[in-house]
Parts: sequence; structure tokens; C-alpha cells
Amino acid sequence: MKIGILSQKPDLYSTRSLVEAVSKRDHEVHVINPLRCYMNITSHHPAIHYKGEKLEGFDAIIPRIGASITFYGTSVVRQFEMMDVFCLNESVAISRSRDKLRSLQLLARRGIGLPVTGFAHSTIFTDDLIQLVGGSPLVVKMIEGTQGIGVVLAETPKAAQSVIQALRSLKANILVQEFIQESSGTDIRCLVIGNKVVAAMMRKGPAGEFRSNLHRGGRAENVRITPEERSTATRAAKIMGLRVAGVDMLRSNHGPVIMEVNSSPGLEGIENTTGKDVAGMIIEYIEKNAGPGKTRTRGKG
Ligand code: ADP
Repeated sequence: MKIGILSQKPDLYSTRSLVEAVSKRDHEVHVINPLRCYMNITSHHPAIHYKGEKLEGFDAIIPRIGASITFYGTSVVRQFEMMDVFCLNESVAISRSRDKLRSLQLLARRGIGLPVTGFAHSTIFTDDLIQLVGGSPLVVKMIEGTQGIGVVLAETPKAAQSVIQALRSLKANILVQEFIQESSGTDIRCLVIGNKVVAAMMRKGPAGEFRSNLHRGGRAENVRITPEERSTATRAAKIMGLRVAGVDMLRSNHGPVIMEVNSSPGLEGIENTTGKDVAGMIIEYIEKNAGPGKTRTRGKG
């Protein structure tokens, strides 16, 4: 097979791990920087050009599109779909997963457990918004934040109000969320491929920190997940339309609640923590499932 990895960063652990897994199985692999792709969208024969040449003969594409280049990156993925190249995660699904509110709305309408969540544009009725999610303590999140930056625990209504007003005055988009105290600074990352959770880890924040992000000093360990957690993770990935996803959840008193579904999950933490060859399993999934006519949207989204 000829497999392309759409990534701006060939040196990143995840990209290297995927390249190695493809090469090990005697397939051809190319790392393609999506920002260097250019294309002719008026043609009846959609094509993508790269470094002066036409990209041809690909059997599958693995998009690893960074959040900062979602707009252009997904347009490159869409073009591959129009060329009937199998894209592991399709453009529509990637765009969906990058919009936090849209993701939560999609999951909610299919009955997936979520922390009670509210959002607002205006700060006029902040008091009411706070009441809507059950009052304090609550978590205020900047929608565009990553790695736990912009996630604040407000212990009192007054604190919540100040944080919301401060962030809104900076034009940050925010959501407010019920604080899942019982998860005690831990969360669970499930790596979904197809309709299976192939690896799971628990992340724990350092003492006194409610955020479990590894970038905030958290550490990860193996975890046995329950059947309910397993089915919640696979359903969430399916609802988002993602064949491969990193599903983050908290253990709440009322069962697993989803925080986020990630379309380009990092492989370093999960491979090192679980000892599983996730990249290898991704390539095996592609071997079984890629082929002409397998693209669901054909660039329609
Ligand atoms: P980011 O996308 O920036 O990582 P998250 O929404 O994943 O932001 O939040 C970061 C961390 O904060 C989570 O991994 C979790 O440990 C903690 N956290 C987030 N939301 C809640 C919540 N509603 N209740 C309890 N802990 C939370």
C-alpha cells in the first residue's frame, strides 16, 4: 500500500511511530505537510500538488492535523476524499471534533453522559448561567484552550462570576461546567480504533491540582475500564464520525462523562503507558478497511 501521513511535524513521536509502523509492514510511506499542498478545485479530476509534483496512487491518508491549521488542513483532507482516497478520519468528522460546543451538542442529542454544561455569549445573565449548571464549585473553560490552560476551578459563585467576566472581556469564548469532584483530579483517555477501545490510561494531576493534563505535571498509568466506559468511548467516536479517536472522560457518580473527543490523539503517552503498539494497530485497521469507495462523504461536508 502507499500511505500518506498528513503532518507538519515529521519529528513528532506520533508521526515517527506511524512511519515506523507503516515501514515495518512493507508499505510505502510519505509524510506530507498539509500546508505545502496546493490543489486545483475546478478540475473534474481533482488533484493535489506537492513540491512541484502531483500526489498520485495513494491508498490511504492518515490526517494528523494540528488544531491551529484545521481550516486548511481539512480542505486538503477533503480533496483526498474527492479523489476517492481513503482518509482514516474524514474532513467533516475532524471539523466537528474541533468545535467543542458542536461536539458536546452532538453527543448530548445521542444521550452520551456529559458534565452539565452551559455557555453564553453575553455576560448579562452570568448569575443565571451559573445556576443553570448547578452553582459553584464549577469549572470555567476557554473553548480554544488546550493542555489544561484556560481551565479554571471557581469555588464560589463570586469567583465564578469574576472569572467569566474577565475572560469574556478578553473576548475569549467560554463554557461553564459542573465540577466532577469525585473524579479527584483524574481522567481517562480511551484510544478508539474502529469500534474498539484498543488502549486506555488514567491520568492523575499532581497533589492539589484538579487538572490531570500531563503538561500540567500529571502522570499516567494503566487502567481497567468498565464495560460502560468502553461502550461510551466507542459510541462517542462513532457519533463524531471518527474511525480513530482519543476519548477523554471523567468517572462521575452518575457514570462516565465525556469531556472531549480528539481526532488526532497523541500516541506517545498511550503507547508508553500501556506498552501497546497503537500505531501498528492503526495500520492494521487501514489494511483491513481502506479501499476505493470507502470514503463516506467524498468531500461533500
Ligand atoms: P484541555 O482540553 O485544555 O485539556 P480539559 O477540558 O480536558 O481541557 O480539562 C483539563 C483537565 O481538567 C481534565 O483533564 C480534567 O482532569 C480536569 N477537568 C476538566 N473538566 C472538569 C470537570 N468538569 N470536572 C472535574 N475536572 C475537570
